[in-house]
Amino acid sequence: MSDQVVTRFAPSPTGYLHIGGARTALFNWLYARGRGGKFLLRIEDTDRERSTPEATEAILKGLTWLGLDWDGDPISQFERADRHAEVAHQLLAAGKAYKCFATQDEIAAFREQARAEGKSTLYRSPWRDADPATHPDAPFVIRIKAPQDGQTVIRDQVQGDVTIRNDQLDDMILLRSDGTPVYMLAVVVDDHDMGVTHVIRGDDHLNNAARQMMIYQAMGWDVPTWAHIPLIHGPDGKKLSKRHGALGAEEYQKMGYPAAGMRNYLARLGWSHGDDEFFTDDQAKAWFDFDGIGKSPARFDLKKLENLCGQHIAQADDAALLHELQAYLKATGAAPVDAAKTVLLRTAMYCLKERAKTFPELIEKAEFVLADRPLQPDEKAARQLDTVSRGILNELTPHLQNASWTRDGLEAVTSSFAEEKEIKFGKMAGPLRAALAGRAVTPSVFDMMLVLGREETIARIEDAAKGG
Ligand code: GLU
Repeated sequence: MSDQVVTRFAPSPTGYLHIGGARTALFNWLYARGRGGKFLLRIEDTDRERSTPEATEAILKGLTWLGLDWDGDPISQFERADRHAEVAHQLLAAGKAYKCFATQDEIAAFREQARAEGKSTLYRSPWRDADPATHPDAPFVIRIKAPQDGQTVIRDQVQGDVTIRNDQLDDMILLRSDGTPVYMLAVVVDDHDMGVTHVIRGDDHLNNAARQMMIYQAMGWDVPTWAHIPLIHGPDGKKLSKRHGALGAEEYQKMGYPAAGMRNYLARLGWSHGDDEFFTDDQAKAWFDFDGIGKSPARFDLKKLENLCGQHIAQADDAALLHELQAYLKATGAAPVDAAKTVLLRTAMYCLKERAKTFPELIEKAEFVLADRPLQPDEKAARQLDTVSRGILNELTPHLQNASWTRDGLEAVTSSFAEEKEIKFGKMAGPLRAALAGRAVTPSVFDMMLVLGREETIARIEDAAKGG
């Protein structure tokens, strides 16, 4: 095996990319990317009845949204069936596997008898040591010759050494009688051929590891480093379900969570680096290692996700955030923002991104940029625009005509106006907010004025002063 780290994500395309799958992909991505390694994608589409191209597409889209880029083209496991069969035949030729001609009825009878005698019902085929000269001309499966005594130790990076008694392993089928390979063989052959060095996956696959190990050993192949990670639970400690927010990655995109926040949150689901909660991709790549993975199930917590997303939005580069906002609008089927407003949005981004946890929240604050004159104030804003307030706005306008259009200039003008009229600035801020945005939740009035510019600001205030 070369020194380069190679990981993979191997989803079964039977549904969308769920939170658990996304987290598994992220861990593999972080591990590889943090070590200059490769992150590969294999679509485990051998179950022809349950696998669909739509699911494959949803998984690729979900990974793309999350920014988990993979190396090379995705590999279809199904398309490699001939290679899997070839390995089964290689094991047969080497005497590490055998043809078993037992019928379903014979196997059922074996189990029945074992049960009656209180023995293990693991099937023991009489064909394991049969002389090939006695083989009938009949359908057969190829079974591996499992070790019958001793034990198999899985050196797991998360669970520690997991020991399985070999007398609990049966001679698993490698190739069915119709010549199709079983899933367990496909996984091992693919991981080997793809040069996978590290396998990080859910601990529901731990039992499979013992059986997969038999194939590695029989082929004389290096066993990859395994890390079986605990599954994700809901906040109540029960297995994560839809009720808890176990939605597809695309749903999170549609809810408007930024991908960087999602990555940060998913990385914290079962992995930690000291007390660090908020971190960048570069930090996560540098820090991610097996010793930070917990042994007990992580709990999904929507509040924490939102909190981290808010921090990522606040710290994001303005241009990158605008780009992601546009992708969000597209994903939700909303109309794109026109060119002129895009320019304004870009200018406004610095004051929109404070305290917005999601893109819908950011868009709400951006209403003052997105809306066209004359604004239609919502109910709360309309209440701010009573006769007295409209009078105040009317009187303020000439002062703004002459103000120097900087934060300091605007602050000076408005506070001296407030002093002159003996009103508190707060009394002016509400109506101003309503006039400039038609909303109650907005960036500061000075930020809005600066973004909108003198002409538009005054026009909006005049609209509001006239009343609707
Ligand atoms: N296809 C399996 C799954 O979606 C993963 C198999 C593996 O990682 O070895 O659960």
